[in-house]
Order: sequence, then structure tokens, then C-alpha cells
Amino acid sequence: MARVLFINAGSLGHINPTIGVVEELISRGEEVVYFTIEDFRERIEKTGATVRTIDVQKFLKAFISGGRNNLLERINGLLRTADIMIPSVLEQIKGEHFDYIIHDSMFGCGRLLAQILKLPAINSCTSFAETKASFDKMLDQLSGKIPTETFDEFQSLTVMVKEKYGVEIRSPYEVFCNPAPLTIVYTTREFQPFGETFDQTYKFVGPSISSRLTQENFDLTAIKGKSLIYISLGTVFNQANDFYKLCLKALGNSDHTVVMSIGEKAQLSDLGEIPKNFIVKNYVPQTEVLKYTKLFITHSGMNSTHEGLYYGVPLIAIPQGADQPIIAGQVANIGAGIKLQMQNLTANQLREAVDHVLNDPSFHKAVANIRDSFQESGGYHQAVDEIFKFKIQYDI
Ligand code: UDP
Repeated sequence: MARVLFINAGSLGHINPTIGVVEELISRGEEVVYFTIEDFRERIEKTGATVRTIDVQKFLKAFISGGRNNLLERINGLLRTADIMIPSVLEQIKGEHFDYIIHDSMFGCGRLLAQILKLPAINSCTSFAETKASFDKMLDQLSGKIPTETFDEFQSLTVMVKEKYGVEIRSPYEVFCNPAPLTIVYTTREFQPFGETFDQTYKFVGPSISSRLTQENFDLTAIKGKSLIYISLGTVFNQANDFYKLCLKALGNSDHTVVMSIGEKAQLSDLGEIPKNFIVKNYVPQTEVLKYTKLFITHSGMNSTHEGLYYGVPLIAIPQGADQPIIAGQVANIGAGIKLQMQNLTANQLREAVDHVLNDPSFHKAVANIRDSFQESGGYHQAVDEIFKFKIQYDI
């Protein structure tokens, strides 16, 4: 049995794929101490891990204070979270021994903590992975639009980290992608753009989808056997009342039953009259709903995309931000759905897109192929197989 330190301060999309991994690690005898934010305590405690938390308000304040205008500002924001994450984690694990660390690829300063604690590290990558070469190229292309002060701030933050914590940061890539000797990527090499460019330290284990252990108040009998369309913009970029109203207009009183998840911050009463064929909720058990779904209108978050395709559901991808345009592009590339722009979208366009995707057999064929490849990829079982091979390599 080894003791595992898990660092993950991210949103639900960064947490969900790790749930199966942690359950599987524990079932194979590991002890897991999982650092996250209070919101995810219940979800993670149910895996059997010990949960410890960091202050989400302070974390977000530090992250946002870096700015949001360009990639390097976000990187500076991530670096600013070092002063929230590092002292809090070090204080809470004082005197304890860990054998290895698994950290999120973006949030939580995992690479820094691994170096400070001198632990063998595994990177948990819940989006598409990035090689240093492709990341540097992207940053280079953007650099003309990034003010020199932002580069200066990156330099002074790295000096601060070196002085305070004794750890060298060699590039923005290290902060944004937290590279490690082993990176678990929760997709397949085929779905990953330029999958062939990643070396053997990247293990593409496929979507990590496990049964959710949260209590959600949803009557699945109401959707079984129906022509079901499911709509969700995920848990982050989901304040979009105009879009939800557009969906009501496009698909209200049609032959479809429509489940629409509008996010925890939205008010049902702000959407006006709800047509009888709609079930509108703040949150639904998505992986259950998808089992009965014929078409998924999604923001193409990495998890939602994986979950839809894993259950063989074609997608209408309407990206909102972050990595979603790239994921939506990949969905369209493999023919598993289409990509629409949110801007200027009309109810008519959406209705036509729905008919098109539902009635064109080519989408169903492409989705069946990717569904099979996802279901055969191994997911969290494969992830833990890779972690155990890593343990042997590191004599753990
Ligand atoms: N989710 C859910 N019910 C909802 C909305 C979202 O279970 O009503 C889950 C969904 O299954 C997915 C995660 O929340 O695992 C959203 O992650 P994703 O990467 O798709 O998007 P994000 O929320 O990070 O934008």
C-alpha cells in the first residue's frame, strides 16, 4: 500500500474523471489524501479518500487577479495561486509521508508541490494534452498582442516562487500544463489532436466515466423510451438565459422530449413559460440522462463531449470559451456532430441543425465508431494500470 497525495483545485470538469481513478486506487489498496475545494468534498469522500480543502475564495481571487485578457495573464493568475496552495498544503500535511503525487494538469500548482516535496509525480490531464513545442508555438503567435508588462510580471512571479519555495520555473508551459514523468490523458490518442506527437510518457487512457455517487433528484422514468434531446452548457460558462430561451423557442412543442440543464446560478422563473415537452433543471445526473439521449446540444466541454460520445450520442457543439472551440472542431472533424457559433444563432438554425443531425446516418456511423473506441479504451482501470507500472519504475 502506498500513500498518494492528490492535488486538484479545479472545477467539476477537472474532478469528475479522477473519481473513478481514486476509487480504483483505493480498491487496489492505496491510501489517497485528496486536496480540493469544499464544494467537492462529498463527491470525493464517497470514493474512500481523505479530503482536505483549500480556501476557494482566496484561490479564485488570486487566480483572477492575474487578469483574463490573454493566455499569459491566466498563467500569471495560476502562479499567483502558489501563495494560496503551497503554504496551505504544506501546513496540512506536516509530518506525514507520501509515496507519490497525482496533480491536475492546470489548477493547484501540482508541479511546484511535487518538486518541493521531492515526490514522483503524475499529471492528471482532463483536457487535450499539449506538447511543449505546440504550446510554445501558440504563445509565440500570441506574444505580439501581449503587453511587455505581462511578461515582466511572469518573470517577477517566478523569482518570487524561487525565493520563497526554492523551485525553479523554466517556462510558462510548466505553469499552464504541469508536465510530469507520467501524464494520464483521459481521451484516446485518436481523438487527441496531433496524438502521434506525444511520447510514451503520455498515456491516453480514454474517458474516465464512473457512476456518480451524488444524490440527484431526477425522475429517469419520465425520459425512458422518448425521442430525447439533452441540452447543457456545463458548470462554468452556463449563465446564458437568452440561449436557453432560444432552445425553448426552437424545440418547444415539438415531438421531442427535451431535458435542459441550466446550471446552479440560473433561475427557472427567468425563462418564462416552459413548454410541456421540456424538463428544465439546475443540474441533472448527466451520465444517466445521456444513456437515453438521441442528440446532445453541448458547450463541448471535454467531459460532456466524452460522456456524450461514450454513450453513442451525436453532438451539436456550441463552444463558449476555454478549450471548447478546439474540442468542438475535433467533434466536427471526426463527423460525430456539428459545430455552431453561439453568436447570432437563431431558433430556426438550431431547429434545422437538430433535424440535420438526427436524420443524417453519417453522424450515427461516426459516433458508433468513436463510442466503441472510447468504451474499449479502459478509462480509469487503464489509468490505474499505468500508475501501477509507474510505481514499479520508481520503486514505490
Ligand atoms: N454535469 C452534470 N450535470 C449537469 C451539468 C453538468 O452531471 O447538469 C457534469 C457533466 O457530466 C460533466 C461536468 O459536469 O462531467 C462538466 O464538465 P465539462 O468538462 O463538460 O464542462 P465544464 O463544466 O468544465 O465547462
